[in-house]
Amino acid sequence: MESKVEDKVQFKPGKTAGILGLGVAGRATVRFLLDQGLRLKVSDLRPQQEVELEEPGFLDFLAQHGVYSEFGSHGSDFLDGLDVLVPAPGVPLQSPLIVEARKQEIPLAGELALAAGHFAAPVIAITGSNGKTTVTGLIGHLLQTAGKNPFVGGNIGTPLLEYCLDQVRYDWVVLELSSFQLDLAGSFRPEIGILLNITPDHLDRHGSLQAYANAKMQLFAAQHEADAAILGCDDALVAQIRLNAGVQRLCFGTDEGAACRVEEEGVRLRLGAEEFFFPLGGTRLASSVNRLNAAAAILAAKLASCSNEAIAQGLAGFEPPAHRMAEVAVINGVRYIDDSKATNIGALAAALSACPAQVVLIAGGRDKGGDYGLLREIVSRKLRHLVLIGEAAPLMEKVLAKLVTCERATDMAQAVQAAGAAARPGDTVLLAPGCSSFDMFSGYAERGNIFSRAVLALQQRSGAAQTAELGSCAR
Ligand code: ADP
Repeated sequence: MESKVEDKVQFKPGKTAGILGLGVAGRATVRFLLDQGLRLKVSDLRPQQEVELEEPGFLDFLAQHGVYSEFGSHGSDFLDGLDVLVPAPGVPLQSPLIVEARKQEIPLAGELALAAGHFAAPVIAITGSNGKTTVTGLIGHLLQTAGKNPFVGGNIGTPLLEYCLDQVRYDWVVLELSSFQLDLAGSFRPEIGILLNITPDHLDRHGSLQAYANAKMQLFAAQHEADAAILGCDDALVAQIRLNAGVQRLCFGTDEGAACRVEEEGVRLRLGAEEFFFPLGGTRLASSVNRLNAAAAILAAKLASCSNEAIAQGLAGFEPPAHRMAEVAVINGVRYIDDSKATNIGALAAALSACPAQVVLIAGGRDKGGDYGLLREIVSRKLRHLVLIGEAAPLMEKVLAKLVTCERATDMAQAVQAAGAAARPGDTVLLAPGCSSFDMFSGYAERGNIFSRAVLALQQRSGAAQTAELGSCAR
């Protein structure tokens, strides 16, 4: 674990930093470190044209600032003269260049380590295996409803270091953080840290659940007195977390003693002497999963001094982001739900438990090293039929086909067709892949959009068939 990288490097003018990866976060890092007066070398494995396409003019910008740049491969002398190496969050820490940098004792820093000490407003940072984007967006929305002006970004939307370059306008900073970002967090310290849950994800990168959990726990490593930790205590790994002395510990979940308790119809806040019930029935946060997310967000909003009235108003008007348990259509009494963002086993299990009655599940994609055996109980209880797609289909079939009828589909249209044929009125057809999408799609959004199109096509065909049937009855 890297710590105190800032002490070693002191990111001072004249120092030289190497940046690996020029995606949106990497490009923000370039601008930030140039602003700090550092000399830069950058390296991206993609061809030059691809980077230029993403941000036209960026290569000229690099040249104007005298930045050494290389594309397509990392040169053998790239590490020469570096005082610090800054890998983009997507770059695996096991990649040969990073291993070599460690051998040469070149300090590694992530964007959180660079940003530490550059915040002009208090920080609320959200991490966890699932629910980060929803909770980050919800907290931003609650603060806005209460009349505040938060910056909302990090792993979503605007990169954190863009904020550091342009921060004067905001009174709160709300950041979604991935375990990749937390890997190299240095002495980054949020005033309010939120850990939603820890279920197996990204084990292909982290190696073990413990290593993944350790990265998540980095969120609290630099916290001190007067800071707060909001923890999803239904999750055993999260409940066990030890915090630094003086850090306020606030739990949310189904436990009787939770500061924000999830109940059937909403969420009950018990903070000090205060008790307040937030009803969620009829809102987009009514599902079992989103009541948990709402509980975490309510605690953060309370710590940020939002009134209960503003919070209640914000909860009522919140629209979750796309491809998270979104209803696409109801066809012949069957609900079709797009939860394409369920890219790991925890999210898949949560999606199944949030569905009433029986489910026909479409799952599969690129395997991320998780244990499908963890799904056995919920699959036995909830599934009528399983349709598998993508590279993970054989792996999932091996574990789950003993428990439920199972078939494979070669593309999404075929999967939707097969799921529709297996479903009965009252069932849910759920796309919750439990895997990443990159074997068949450009991302989860494309996967969800193609699912929706296939469902709408099925709806049209079924409407046409019904019309034809009615016509033939009339004759
Ligand atoms: P993240 O940003 O962590 O990936 P999202 O809010 O984008 O989280 O949701 C990702 C997936 O996780 C979706 O499939 C969603 O239905 C599911 N999900 C959302 N909140 C939770 C939660 N608290 N626990 C388990 N799964 C959740």
